[in-house]
Amino acid sequence: MTRIAIIGGGISGLAAAFTLEEHRRAGTIDYALYESSPRLGGVLRTEHIQGCVVEAGPDSFLTEKPWAADLCRAVGLGDQLIGSNDADRKTYILVRGRLIPMPDGLMFMVPTKILPTGFSPLFSWSTKLRMAQELFHPPRTAEADESVASLVKRHYGAEMVDCLADPLLSGVYGGEAASLSVRAVLPRFAEMERAHGSLGRAMLAARRKIPRSANQAAPPLFTSLKNGMQQLVASLIPRLNQPSLITNARVESIQHDTGGWSVSAGSKSGHFDAVILALPTYAAAQLLSIASPELSAELGAIVYSSSITVGLGYNRDVRQSLPPGFGFLVPRSEGKRLLAATFVHNKFPHRAPEDRAALRCFFAGSTAENIWQLSDDAIIAIVRNELRQILGLRARPLFARVYKWKSAMAQYGVGHLERLDRIERMRQQLPKLALAGNGYRGIGVPDCVRSGQDAVKQVLNV
Ligand SMILES: Cc1cc2nc3c(=O)[nH]c(=O)nc-3n(C[C@H](O)[C@H](O)[C@H](O)COP(=O)(O)OP(=O)(O)OC[C@H]3O[C@@H](n4cnc5c(N)ncnc54)[C@H](O)[C@@H]3O)c2cc1C
Repeated sequence: MTRIAIIGGGISGLAAAFTLEEHRRAGTIDYALYESSPRLGGVLRTEHIQGCVVEAGPDSFLTEKPWAADLCRAVGLGDQLIGSNDADRKTYILVRGRLIPMPDGLMFMVPTKILPTGFSPLFSWSTKLRMAQELFHPPRTAEADESVASLVKRHYGAEMVDCLADPLLSGVYGGEAASLSVRAVLPRFAEMERAHGSLGRAMLAARRKIPRSANQAAPPLFTSLKNGMQQLVASLIPRLNQPSLITNARVESIQHDTGGWSVSAGSKSGHFDAVILALPTYAAAQLLSIASPELSAELGAIVYSSSITVGLGYNRDVRQSLPPGFGFLVPRSEGKRLLAATFVHNKFPHRAPEDRAALRCFFAGSTAENIWQLSDDAIIAIVRNELRQILGLRARPLFARVYKWKSAMAQYGVGHLERLDRIERMRQQLPKLALAGNGYRGIGVPDCVRSGQDAVKQVLNV
């Protein structure tokens, strides 16, 4: 019988445990999952307040990445999957204090329709001119990685970095376009530039290749669960072997010896043939500092940022007064602390009764750090003040909840993929060790699910 330790009970570790269950039931392996906190699920956490589904962490995942939805189906939640309400998919950008809708045809930040972009007040005339010139951008032959800001600036200029690239990426990574790696974060952009030169032409060419009849609807951009992301955790847990799930157990050290790995978690320690570290990389670095100081140093060099989400509920009058669409993004140049807000009742109408408006506000990176020490009431006051300035929203919320996530979002800095190659070489020198989590090849929930599943394949050599 092979014994496997999974360290970390977020979605990466739970996905690994679920993958191992089949083998456990066949009697070939046994596993133990160690989680330092009292609850499983990591940053997946949902509260139900006054009929609203309030997401403390992730609210959905990208539909085009199948692993999370597949896992939901595997745990019996196929009929609970919901798509975002893309008929109302409009996102606003705050520009000089006004909310301006992102023009139709903008794919991430690449314009693919001339008229809506040409007439949009979102961009200055000089940026619009850059967009036209961009169609003649030559292919790039340089192999070296660069920041997202540097690529976007080369194609569309600095205004595009400030008003779109930066806010769009802050919403996903909690980081800045100037420090995120193009090859790790937007690999398609790097490839489009290499092959086509112009991102605009590349995007149009890619769109022409999609075989879709005129009346076939595109799948929704985002997928989620009717009762929130925690539904996935709640359905996963009963499908796992209960004695294998050890909560309130912080693993303090792991040690490799000829017979495998010793895992020390106070009174709940054990000996295993293989270990899966389903942890933020800084936590994995700490545990590997004795087994491989070099690997530990590489893992420790991956930067994480903190974030704060604030869920607010309002009455029918507020719902009627808010603009349509999914919400807004705030460029740093606007001088606000909020980075983004989602109109939950529009994005996922199932998540708020018809007489409620539900908002989800987001702070990340240095802004989140700057307000970290404040009380929940003080943070709610900041949110309300900025919502008043941005939306004219003066009403007192029916409820407001603050959720703080310390160092939970990995930042893939320039050179991240090269670092991953080094990490992989070093990992292979340590027998029966696998790494999973959001610090490697994707920060989103689907990527984390896949990382847990791949980690099982690595330790089982399948
Ligand atoms: C606010 C926020 C919003 C997000 N929004 C989205 C979104 O909308 N869509 C999307 O796809 N993704 C989103 N993400 C990203 C995604 O949710 C995460 O990347 C993913 O859930 C991370 O899962 P994980 O299991 O790798 O890590 P975590 O959830 O961080 O779990 C790691 C676990 O390890 C435990 N642990 C740490 N050290 C030890 C130790 N020494 N011993 C034992 N246990 C330990 C921790 O307690 C934790 O439970 C968001 C993330 C955040 C923070």
